[in-house]
Amino acid sequence: MGLRGLINSIAELDHQVILLVVMIIIAIIVIDALLSRVEHSSLTTGLTIKSVDSPDLALEGIPRLAIKDYISETQELSGRPDAVIKENGFLIPVEHKPLAKKMRDRYIAQLLIYMRLIEELEGTRPPYGYLVLGKSARRVKISNTPERQRWIDQVLTEMRAVLDGEAAKATPHPAKCAGCQVAEFCEFKAERPKPTT
Ligand code: SF4
Repeated sequence: MGLRGLINSIAELDHQVILLVVMIIIAIIVIDALLSRVEHSSLTTGLTIKSVDSPDLALEGIPRLAIKDYISETQELSGRPDAVIKENGFLIPVEHKPLAKKMRDRYIAQLLIYMRLIEELEGTRPPYGYLVLGKSARRVKISNTPERQRWIDQVLTEMRAVLDGEAAKATPHPAKCAGCQVAEFCEFKAERPKPTT
């Protein structure tokens, strides 16, 4: 292989790496848990959100349900909240992110999915849920608004399309692209807006 061929090979490799990175970024934007088709003999529920059990969510003394999987064939969703507590007459999902340093859209998305599942499978609509963030277990209330649920509708539609083989769409952020090591080669790179004079 000549020098030109070697350069072409490296360029092709970079392109593949960039595409892989972009696809991974898109995937983790929505949730940090793995979403995948459930391939089970009796359950074909589509998207699954998995989370680990948390022994203490700074919720000591608050009545709660036993931890369990929520599986909806109707919505093609399933998930396992870290806790479901009883508060103000409602069942409220709680998700613990012990390593979180700040709020992320994907945490909110995960909680909104749990609210959907509880509404269908427990028969009452949670008006909010809690995210418990970081080592200090800071509890943040997330309202279950129609606007947020419309956003989840859109996210789920896009994710299902990708699972069905449609090309993933990049949603780059200029601040992240500015520090990205492969920005020079990335066709999806977002530029910082130029200051107006
Ligand atoms: S330049 Fe931006 S879009 Fe491209 S890989 Fe880096 S962070 Fe992602």
